[in-house]
Amino acid sequence: MPIVIIGAGMAGLTCANYLYQRGRDILLVDAQDVPGGRVRTDIVDGFRLDRGFQILLTAYPEAQRLLNYTALDLQRFRSGAAIHHDEPSGGNWMKLLNPFSEPLSVFQTLFSPVGTLSDKLLVADLIRRVQSLSTSELFTQPAVTTATYLRDFGFSEQIIERFFRPFFGGVFLEDDLTTSSNFFEFCFKNFFLGDAAIPALGIGEIPKQLASRLPGDAIRLNTPVDRLEGKTVHLASGESIAAEAIVLAVDARSAARLMGNEEPNSTRFNHTTCTYFSAPAADRPASLKADKLLMLNTKRSSSVHNLAILTDVAPACAPADQLLVSVSTQGLVQVDADALARQVRSELTGWFGESVQGWRHLQTDHLPEALPTYGPDAQHRPLRLAEHLYQCGDQTAYPSLNAAMQSGRLVAELI
Ligand SMILES: Cc1cc2nc3c(=O)[nH]c(=O)nc-3n(C[C@H](O)[C@H](O)[C@H](O)COP(=O)(O)OP(=O)(O)OC[C@H]3O[C@@H](n4cnc5c(N)ncnc54)[C@H](O)[C@@H]3O)c2cc1C
Repeated sequence: MPIVIIGAGMAGLTCANYLYQRGRDILLVDAQDVPGGRVRTDIVDGFRLDRGFQILLTAYPEAQRLLNYTALDLQRFRSGAAIHHDEPSGGNWMKLLNPFSEPLSVFQTLFSPVGTLSDKLLVADLIRRVQSLSTSELFTQPAVTTATYLRDFGFSEQIIERFFRPFFGGVFLEDDLTTSSNFFEFCFKNFFLGDAAIPALGIGEIPKQLASRLPGDAIRLNTPVDRLEGKTVHLASGESIAAEAIVLAVDARSAARLMGNEEPNSTRFNHTTCTYFSAPAADRPASLKADKLLMLNTKRSSSVHNLAILTDVAPACAPADQLLVSVSTQGLVQVDADALARQVRSELTGWFGESVQGWRHLQTDHLPEALPTYGPDAQHRPLRLAEHLYQCGDQTAYPSLNAAMQSGRLVAELI
């Protein structure tokens, strides 16, 4: 009998890879038509559109352990951000660059109006602190909200509003920075130690790589599981599979349903909306610099929160001579995709000029359950639920690819 892993997201695929490496008989079943779960790339008119803006931090310990970065052909963003800030005086863009990866930027960073000089010295203290703690130690520190942590650390409101809120609001998918300081420290450390990257052909290449290492008959797609009964997995099709052990590698809502627990309500998730545009590269506005930086907007009441010119970083994600632009908007509960695209175009026309009006709207992805919330009281969950039943996934730990992969590996080791 195989070990049946329910869910072929990053957690299930990682678990399957480690078990298969050790010669175990595995069967991975997933309700969707491709492996990867929340990590997915759609191909639309020759453009490769990730389902929601998503990056791999190359310093993630679990990713380094299992992924082949060379084969993924990782394309890296520059370390830092270009920050759009409305000033009555007009000057709209500020840059914050990482002087550790770009030593020549140190003066630019010191004099940038993003924060005070004291803020910049505090960033060095923060780097020292997170580097002195291992990943597991980071998650056992006393936790408060990220907003409280930053103020207690001594950062000014100026740098919180101009950098931390727009940048980490985009990472946590919530702008109030109520996410746990432990997760903030983890993210800060991994942003500092490595690069923010995407595979040349889109984020979906990551699960594709893990799936390609498994035998073809070990993955059954379009196969939703209806219920569990002891060591038997009942599929929605009516078929039953006897298992040596069962691993639940599903999202928080499906895990609750399959275990007969109350399903989490919508406030237990952070959501995001991603709007994609294309334009001929020849029509690129002169003010839209190709500097491979994430663009942030400090005005969080607008529709453009974070912006990336994906083709500057990963040109193969679009047909030749086309720009691919991704715009993320946090906090929308319901989305009228056309109205949002119009609003985004109108705001970006103010940033880059009239040619933005000609940008073609390619797709809108609204992801109401993108990340499980992770407040200061969040508890990591046990991975072994019963003698033959295990669980993994970001919902058992914290909302990140690293957590999904780590929990998948730990379950494989338990088995
Ligand atoms: C828009 C967005 C941006 C993100 N940005 C980042 C980022 O920049 N960096 C980062 O580290 N992380 C990011 N994340 C988080 C990261 O993608 C997730 O933490 C990770 O993919 C979770 O993997 P998982 O395997 O735990 O869950 P999932 O990917 O949700 O996989 C669960 C799988 O279970 C399957 N399933 C569920 N129920 C059943 C059933 N009954 N029967 C069969 N199959 C079932 C689903 O189809 C799915 O494939 C982002 C996520 C989103 C959505």
